[in-house]
Amino acid sequence: MSLVSEAYNGLFPEKEFEYDAKIKYSNKFNDYNANVRYRGNYLEFGLSKKWKEIGREIRIGLIQSLMAKIFKTKKTTTNIDLYNIFLKNVHIAAPKYLTDPMLQESFDRLNDEYFYGLMDRPNLTWAKSINKLGSYEYGSDTITISKILENKDELLDYVMYHEMLHKKHKFTHNKGRSLHHSKKFRTDEKSYPASELLERELKKLVTKNKIKKAFGFGF
Ligand SMILES: [Zn+2]
Repeated sequence: MSLVSEAYNGLFPEKEFEYDAKIKYSNKFNDYNANVRYRGNYLEFGLSKKWKEIGREIRIGLIQSLMAKIFKTKKTTTNIDLYNIFLKNVHIAAPKYLTDPMLQESFDRLNDEYFYGLMDRPNLTWAKSINKLGSYEYGSDTITISKILENKDELLDYVMYHEMLHKKHKFTHNKGRSLHHSKKFRTDEKSYPASELLERELKKLVTKNKIKKAFGFGF
């Protein structure tokens, strides 16, 4: 049985698999990223080449979580649970090769101040596009920060802190949805000195620069 039909049967045991499906492994993704495109009954799963090295059960979970999105189901499976556990832990193995002096200083400052210096350094990189202030990618263990925060130490630190909280808290998965900004996350975020003022400053910056995803922050 193909990986895709097996994933489908695991998610929808009561239904027949009637799709024309394909998996394409490519280098265009960052580590452990993936997407799905579909038209009519054609499904195409694009997976980073890194996935080739990962066990079948976890890959089935990945396919199922992509299916859950396009078929809009809240169902979950043991494979999806495995996939989520994998995604939460893969940062340990992700290679660290991206950094930048300004970002590293910011990270180190915050790590000492708020994380007892215990957080291991992820990849740190500036974003080419500026439609997000920052984001954290679990699969490649990468914090990406918008260039508009360059030389704005206070704001940069605050956005960096937000992304570091994502690395700390990861996410919870319930009823087919992933929650990235949990209550605990928000409590930590609010405990940052002058967080409300900084939020307002960021809002101004976002408006001025016409950034689309103002406080989406990526994740
Ligand atoms: Zn976030």
